Amino acid sequence: MSEFLDVPEDDTFASAGLRLTVDLTALTENWRDMAHRSGAARAAAVVKADAYGLGIEDAGEALYTAGARDFFVATVDEGVTLRLYTPDARIFVLSGIWPGTERRFFDNDLVPVISSDEQLAFWMAVLADYGDYPCALHVDTGFNRLGLHIDDAIALADDVSRPASFAPVLVMSHLACGDDPTHVMNRQQLESFRRVTAAYEGIDSSLAASAGIFLGEDYHFDLTRPGIALYGGEAVCGMANPMRPVATAEARIIQVRTVGAGETVSYGRALQLRRDSRLAIVSAGYADGYMRSQSSGGVPLRQAVPQGGQGFIAGHKVPVAGRITMDLTIFDVTDLPENAVRAGDYVELFGKNMPLDDVARAAGTIGYEILTSMGLRHERRYVAEE
Ligand SMILES: *Cc1c(COP(=O)(O)O)cnc(C)c1O
Repeated sequence: MSEFLDVPEDDTFASAGLRLTVDLTALTENWRDMAHRSGAARAAAVVKADAYGLGIEDAGEALYTAGARDFFVATVDEGVTLRLYTPDARIFVLSGIWPGTERRFFDNDLVPVISSDEQLAFWMAVLADYGDYPCALHVDTGFNRLGLHIDDAIALADDVSRPASFAPVLVMSHLACGDDPTHVMNRQQLESFRRVTAAYEGIDSSLAASAGIFLGEDYHFDLTRPGIALYGGEAVCGMANPMRPVATAEARIIQVRTVGAGETVSYGRALQLRRDSRLAIVSAGYADGYMRSQSSGGVPLRQAVPQGGQGFIAGHKVPVAGRITMDLTIFDVTDLPENAVRAGDYVELFGKNMPLDDVARAAGTIGYEILTSMGLRHERRYVAEE
């Protein structure tokens, strides 16, 4: 018992079974880096989905303090929260405005992104009641997700019948293949978007998310919209990731057990041990976004992606053993020195030593999904360099 560290009762981080450290200095450095790469364009900050799972309050405030004045959120509620931390910033709401949400837009000075005919019609009716108010127009240039039809958007620019109070402050579009710099789709969307910006001369325009910023100056327009790169994730496939890691997730080892050769591990006996082994049982599972598809075997993805997930313990990467379960994951620590791993130690699930996108690849997904799937059980700590 004397081996246990003395942790004060009220130190919830030091005693947490599962914890997340968010490096706000790395976050703001990443934003500055994106702003620099955006050249003459302003860099916004995309903080939807609780700042990609890292906490919109702290992330929003840090980015605002670093100088960000344009923000994108997905929903009006995210905008209402963000407003408290970014007093005079412009906050764009990507999902746009819907009947019943007008008050929240106006009271919190949020700018709706109008992206369909229905929203446009509703917005015109709102303007008739409320008078002048800014909006943004999202135009589809081939993604076929949200956005006004390109010909409709261009016609709208010169439509003399539109209300005088209709005042778009931004026209934007979104790239489908920005993460692949060689893809012909990028040029095609760029050319389509140039037709839109020509119709809306004098109004700010925006095309590039994180990946688009790396495509170069042609794609920058007036405002760029980095998201994942701010949080340290890979934006461009196959390129060494230049961003600083921001989030570190760690889980406690609850038990280290010795298991004989020939025995099996976890549900479905998915792994049979070939040697006498030591296993670390760790307090994170798929309910915490530690995805079951990272299991070492016994899940269908492993046929497509043979390598299972890894954690980082005592200076080494160690493999997941057997199936990941709801609250617990098993790591094989047999190759580590006998005394290197003890109950109470922490394993890094992703972070500075275990790159987020390596974890994502082992799970058959992308860093975005790992970050936004973390669930409710992480004890969060925010750190910043003085
Ligand atoms: C999410 C999103 C972004 C940010 O994308 P990243 O790839 O995370 O940089 C930018 N624009 C739109 C419209 C988005 O939905």
